[in-house]
Amino acid sequence: TIILAIETSCDETAVAIIKNGKEVLANVVSTQIPTHQKFGGVVPEVASRKHLEMMNIVVSEALNKANLNFDDLTHIAVTYGPGLVGALLVGVSCAKALAFASDKPLIGVNHIEGHVYANFLVHKEINLPVICLIVSGGHTNIVKIVEHGKYEFIGQTRDDAAGEAFDKVARSLGLAYPGGPEIQKRAELGCKDAIDFPRSWLEAGSYDFSFSGLKSAVLNYLNQCKMKDIEINTENVAASFQSAVIEVLITKTINAALESEIDTILLAGGVSANSALREEMTLKAKEKGIKVLYPQIEFCTDNAAMIGAAAHYKAIRKEYADLDLNANPNLKFGV
Ligand code: ATP
Ligand code: FE
Ligand code: MG
Repeated sequence: TIILAIETSCDETAVAIIKNGKEVLANVVSTQIPTHQKFGGVVPEVASRKHLEMMNIVVSEALNKANLNFDDLTHIAVTYGPGLVGALLVGVSCAKALAFASDKPLIGVNHIEGHVYANFLVHKEINLPVICLIVSGGHTNIVKIVEHGKYEFIGQTRDDAAGEAFDKVARSLGLAYPGGPEIQKRAELGCKDAIDFPRSWLEAGSYDFSFSGLKSAVLNYLNQCKMKDIEINTENVAASFQSAVIEVLITKTINAALESEIDTILLAGGVSANSALREEMTLKAKEKGIKVLYPQIEFCTDNAAMIGAAAHYKAIRKEYADLDLNANPNLKFGV
């Protein structure tokens, strides 16, 4: 397969061309982050308009980089949810137009499944079943990948997603959007045992997560400091917060792997770019004889290469979409 994949679910206009699910012939990401930074978060209306401005330019750039034209492609793939409806619609409309005009099959991809498939894009051999921790701006899940396209759900967040917690805590510390990388930078300079923030383990044996209590604990701590006129050490707050998040993520994911006797863990989604999460998960899992795989940073955060990789396995199964494919902002994963 040679798949042109489009991703516009949030604030990146991305187009990639992927050969056989593995070879990245082009991977273009036009980010809107600087535009949204002024507002401290993504403004949906602005995002849609920016996608519209960039869409055709990014498609042409990807074809140029790959040195291909439309005739060389075998399929057109696109993220159709979850995400911002207006943003998704730009990509979906473009993909449908390209598929119709070039008479190629259209493949609709779930954005979260795309994050998972970033791993299959970059790692030569992954023997299924594996346990996958999905940690992104809107999702926190532990899933078992039984076979391609077949998932069993083990745990999920009951409130905030991990990335959302990073973004909200960063905002309360006066750090820029997106908060994850900013927290990581500060955390590297701080002491993770400085402040004893709560770990939310929930009921014994549960693989679910909850991050809103931790977020409130950080806000309370900051307010207390302000009231008592104590100087806030941003590095220590960042390190202690980050440590509280990743300790729970690591423990539950490894337990899930042990319980299902699986020796490989995949990390997926924007928060899997976090170096402390990657390193500590790898160390702790190794003690139990479990291998941890994750994509390079550029394939952790939103991109279209991961959508092209997921689409490859759908193409093999001939899971095609009709031209009435619609954007679904609340698209569920694996159900
Ligand atoms: P979803 O994929 O759930 O629809 P999204 O697409 O907005 O949401 P991603 O783009 O996958 O989310 O990831 C963005 C999130 O990842 C943000 O919350 C961001 O703060 C977080 N993130 C990015 N880099 C890091 C990092 N180094 N450490 C921690 N968090 C990070
Ligand atoms: Fe994402
Ligand atoms: Mg994003």
